[in-house]
Amino acid sequence: MSDTKTEGQKLEERLSYKRKNVWEKVDEEYIRKAFDFCEEYKKFLDASKTEREFAANTEKLASSAGFKRLDDLIAANKKLKPGDKVYHINRKKSAVLAVIGSKPVTDGVNILGAHIDAPRLDLKQNPLYEDTEMAFFKTHYYGGIKKYQWLTIPLAIHGVVVKGDGTPVEIVIGEGEDDPVFHITDLLPHLAREQMQKKMSEAVTGEGLNLLLGSMPFRDEKVKEKVKLNILNILNKRYGIVEEDFQSAELEIVPAQRARDVGFDKSMVGGYGQDDRVCAYPALRALMDIDTPAHTAVCLLTDKEEIGSMGNTGAQSSLLQNFLANIIALSDDSYSDLKLRTCLSGSKMLSADVNAAVDPNYDSVYEKRNATYLGHGIVLQKYTGARGKYDSSDASAEFVGEVRKLFNENGIMWQTGELGKVDEGGGGTIAQYAANLGIDVLDCGVAVLSMHSPFEITSKIDIYMTYNAYRVFCSI
Ligand code: MN
Ligand code: MN
Repeated sequence: MSDTKTEGQKLEERLSYKRKNVWEKVDEEYIRKAFDFCEEYKKFLDASKTEREFAANTEKLASSAGFKRLDDLIAANKKLKPGDKVYHINRKKSAVLAVIGSKPVTDGVNILGAHIDAPRLDLKQNPLYEDTEMAFFKTHYYGGIKKYQWLTIPLAIHGVVVKGDGTPVEIVIGEGEDDPVFHITDLLPHLAREQMQKKMSEAVTGEGLNLLLGSMPFRDEKVKEKVKLNILNILNKRYGIVEEDFQSAELEIVPAQRARDVGFDKSMVGGYGQDDRVCAYPALRALMDIDTPAHTAVCLLTDKEEIGSMGNTGAQSSLLQNFLANIIALSDDSYSDLKLRTCLSGSKMLSADVNAAVDPNYDSVYEKRNATYLGHGIVLQKYTGARGKYDSSDASAEFVGEVRKLFNENGIMWQTGELGKVDEGGGGTIAQYAANLGIDVLDCGVAVLSMHSPFEITSKIDIYMTYNAYRVFCSI
């Protein structure tokens, strides 16, 4: 065939950039491995619907892979050497892990940074009430949700209640086969004439997201709120808690369904919280699966990204700096602030976060030459932000070039893209907070359909390509 190509065709092949569909370019063995990887991914997703669960499962995975707790190493004054594996779980909600490289930490580290929180509904601190002989929980949504998507789907409750005596009680209900689930009602179409005229953003209100919990009264004529009392009685018997305990609780309402294969060809994964666990899990697994790298490899898993990365578990906290300071102190005889700064400014990071795949049902919001596509490999996103790149850290051409070269040399299929048309909207990631520390950082992750919905869609081939890309990045 090749000798029949015209001069122009040959020139076009040599000079033009074309995005490729990964499914058409990899062999069957690669596809089989992608499917196998996604089986493990789906299990991890089901077991990690909250940041606390993701952090706890990170600790399990890390300790089974030979990672040692940072605090134990500090207590034992144990010095780190190349190949050592270490982790720190921060306040049960975020985590940092490292594989120590053969070069000094002050030469800079390679970081994979993802977030492990996801949009959801939190319970308010005084949540329980009765109305019309039904019991409900008041909620306060967390992160960017389209509120109507949370109505009339089976919901589960995950989290922790700290009792009056200080003991924590972990709660997960709505996931087991015989567990009950919970529900937020919607108006029947027959009576929704007025509701249907409203704007989507106003048809369902924040204060309207009340979780239905029960309808059976406690049988006692003298009690006023019998259904509420019955629920309190069940909660007390099951968990040993009283109503005041909700004041010191963090309970999250999440979709009750499991992650599933999507499509006749099973080429996609559908599940809750894939932003950003579809990057966090491959990042974590990449770190587990590398040999001793030259540069120390770090995986940073943060909380609170969906509400601005604030707080002592978010990417704006001192979590990463404290961890690196300890790594320097444990690898070196004399720690200094200057060594930490030298390490940071020599460090590189892939901000492992998702991008919006083009959705042909809503294609007016995408600029198709600069958008990302399902099945076209890992997404490199030079800048995020909105309205003229506002709030973006904008990776340098040099660093994008470095990552591009690394991926091309290692058979990683990648695409680039922005989040939607200019002025259509936008978004941010943890990239800017790492960039503020002097780190070279590029957003780099998986394209997602139906992002921030209770059931987000990703491509299996992209997930596996992303895992391989992260492994390449943290092996150098
Ligand atoms: Mn994200
Ligand atoms: Mn998000």
